[in-house]
Amino acid sequence: MSKLRLAGKVALITGAASGIGEETAKLFAENGAFVVVADIQDELGQQVVESIGLDKASYHHCDVRNEKQVEDTVNYTLQKHGTLDILFSNAGVIGPISTILDMDLADLDNTLTINVRGVAATIKHVGRAMVNRKIHGSIICTASVSACLGGVGPSAYTASKHAVVGLVRAASSELGAHGIRVNCISPFGVATPLPCNAYNLEASQLEESCTTMANLKGIVLKARHIAETALFFASDESAYISGHNLVVDGGFTVSSHTPITSTTN
Ligand code: NAD
Repeated sequence: MSKLRLAGKVALITGAASGIGEETAKLFAENGAFVVVADIQDELGQQVVESIGLDKASYHHCDVRNEKQVEDTVNYTLQKHGTLDILFSNAGVIGPISTILDMDLADLDNTLTINVRGVAATIKHVGRAMVNRKIHGSIICTASVSACLGGVGPSAYTASKHAVVGLVRAASSELGAHGIRVNCISPFGVATPLPCNAYNLEASQLEESCTTMANLKGIVLKARHIAETALFFASDESAYISGHNLVVDGGFTVSSHTPITSTTN
């Protein structure tokens, strides 16, 4: 089997200027894909493209809150490459760390606008392009362990990530007739700017805190692990998998976190 699992494919990745999206852009390019790096952090996005190589990646400004910008980014990708095989709809924010009791509803609106409306806009416009051009593509979204459990992140974030799973299931159901797969990935904590800035922690402190909470010991979750999961969904190795929420959490969301104590000596 060729080592280049995405040879000749074209991928659009939102939120690709940083963290999980950046790592995935690099891994996709290493595997033979041409990557469109889409984000609102233009300087960082350009740096990611330069680190990958201008022959393998390009940057396009895209604020996922703005449907027109999403549509323009899809059109840019199609005009530049003639196709669009993979969408990684990954841009997201955590929003302010507040409980339901002190939630500012404007913050809820903002979180939902980016994390849900933004994902919906990308699936809509990439889905249309794939259907019109009869591309049997792969759409991948980033949810979170907060799509599975309450209390891991703030309420607005938790609601938004549950909605991402709903969108993925609905889109998978509707787009299956066109040969398009739609899946999502739900990571446990990864030391990217998103949680580090929200909780005011250095990357090493965030990793220490996550490692303490984690179910699976002896390994630290890195953005690379999430990128590897996205690569699996993007490649033909997951050819018959759709509508799935692949939780990358070392068993965190299926563990009781209360160790059983033996009643025998
Ligand atoms: P990050 O902050 O490193 O990356 C997020 C990127 O999204 C940034 O580059 C940011 O500029 C971009 N972005 C934010 N708003 C945008 C908008 N309106 N339009 C376009 N781009 C926008 O964080 P990350 O951890 O890599 O986050 C990526 C995804 O992973 C998010 O959806 C996040 O919710 C999810 N996630 C992260 C963790 C974690 O612990 N890091 C855990 C579970 C899920």
